[in-house]
Amino acid sequence: MSKVDFLKLRNKLSNPELLITDLTEYEQYFHDATEDSCVPEALIFTECENDISETIKFCREHKLSLVPRGAGTGLSGGCVPSQGSIVLSTERMKKLEINSKKKLALCGPGLITKDLQDKSNDVGLAYPPDPASYEESTLGGNVAENAGGLRCKRFGVTKDYVIGLKGILADGKKFSTGIYNKNSGFNIGDIFIASEGTLCVITEIAVRLIDAVSPGNTLLIAFNSPKDGANAVSQIIMSGIIPTILEYIDGDAIACSNEYEKSDLLDDSEAILLIETSDIDISDQTEKIRIICQNNNSKYIRIEKNDQKAESLWKVRRNISNAMKALAKIRVSEDVAVPISKFPEIIDYVRQLNERSTIRINCYGHAGDGNLHVNLMGMNGSDTELEIIEKHVEQIMKKTIQLGGTISGEHGIGLAKRKYLGLEFDKSTISYMLKLKEIFDPDNILNPGKIFL
Ligand SMILES: Cc1cc2nc3c(=O)[nH]c(=O)nc-3n(C[C@H](O)[C@H](O)[C@H](O)COP(=O)(O)OP(=O)(O)OC[C@H]3O[C@@H](n4cnc5c(N)ncnc54)[C@H](O)[C@@H]3O)c2cc1C
Repeated sequence: MSKVDFLKLRNKLSNPELLITDLTEYEQYFHDATEDSCVPEALIFTECENDISETIKFCREHKLSLVPRGAGTGLSGGCVPSQGSIVLSTERMKKLEINSKKKLALCGPGLITKDLQDKSNDVGLAYPPDPASYEESTLGGNVAENAGGLRCKRFGVTKDYVIGLKGILADGKKFSTGIYNKNSGFNIGDIFIASEGTLCVITEIAVRLIDAVSPGNTLLIAFNSPKDGANAVSQIIMSGIIPTILEYIDGDAIACSNEYEKSDLLDDSEAILLIETSDIDISDQTEKIRIICQNNNSKYIRIEKNDQKAESLWKVRRNISNAMKALAKIRVSEDVAVPISKFPEIIDYVRQLNERSTIRINCYGHAGDGNLHVNLMGMNGSDTELEIIEKHVEQIMKKTIQLGGTISGEHGIGLAKRKYLGLEFDKSTISYMLKLKEIFDPDNILNPGKIFL
């Protein structure tokens, strides 16, 4: 139990029951989808902006920090509580207003990504960003991490759809950007996107919607070697084809998925590409992809015309991260991204690392973007495994930078990658990021310890 007296805050909230100080049954709020965890002083389920302002004021008075949280599906430790913090969950702020004429939606930060997609589809529109966690993740978390997803090769990532934000700053005051104003002046909205809860609490998100997109063909292409699959990926993209989705899955990731799903939907191959062609020029694109894959020694190409079967394949893909987590005692998932011409090199590097290592390493990812999730799995959970994983993570980061890539394709920096920030950004760039943090949050109340060491 916390020693802080929360009575004053409780009385200021729209509903006193929003504040939880006995955390016995709230263990899931101590961590996200990574291994890190910490017990906060309290947890609060905010329902309106005033609750957030009051909580921030209370934090300032009591020298507590505030850790914003959505659904806790983050893969970089972004919402893991810091010592002496209140976790502020925006999961109950689920506003959704769709304006079909203007093709936009006003969303609460706690709205589930899939709910926005489904409701947009109901009126003939679409919200394309689709992190594999879309059935659980919230819009607030998506904006705070600038989430990508399967369809992002063709349609772009979260930031490409945000047209306005509302939120509360570290002094408890409100701000608004983009369409909530007249769009003149500095474009400060972009600073809050991917700020990982360190600059503000997002309370509303305006997103643009596009006309509904019909599905293309779902293709499952199997290869006898990771190298062939990776070469096919880079040749498809470099030839100018833009499929809606292009996912790469290596042999061991397939094995994990099949074991978890108790199915053999993904054939036992060394590498698989799961592709959804664009809905434009479906046959032409399918044929071009087929030829490139055949030239790279594909074992077979299955065109899935049955919608339900295609959907089961995508479901299996979306579950792969959970499969790894369920099978390993320790699972660290790195999301690097490299220029598409270098995709075969990073795949080969991961393969070699796995061959040399005593731990299990596999990979999969939104390959169309050059994005790769490298999974390092400790099967017995020992300290030795942890040490080996840490060493390999550093090797993977260095290799990625050497190939001209980025240490985070989409999962953010959080706790997990803060010590590698200097590999990608020079000192002066980091110092300007820190100056921004100081301007918005001089007392370091919002999500301290994240992004920067
Ligand atoms: C199975 C699985 C698959 C995934 N697939 C993908 C994928 O394909 N693409 C991808 O990009 N990510 C993926 N992720 C990672 C994760 O789902 C995304 O980062 C997602 O955007 C996190 O949303 P969340 O609501 O769970 O946020 P949380 O994990 O709760 O928080 C993430 C960050 O956002 C901040 N935050 C949350 N809400 C607010 C708010 N209202 N105001 C300010 N800051 C806030 C937190 O402080 C934290 O820093 C996956 C995760 C899992 C477990």
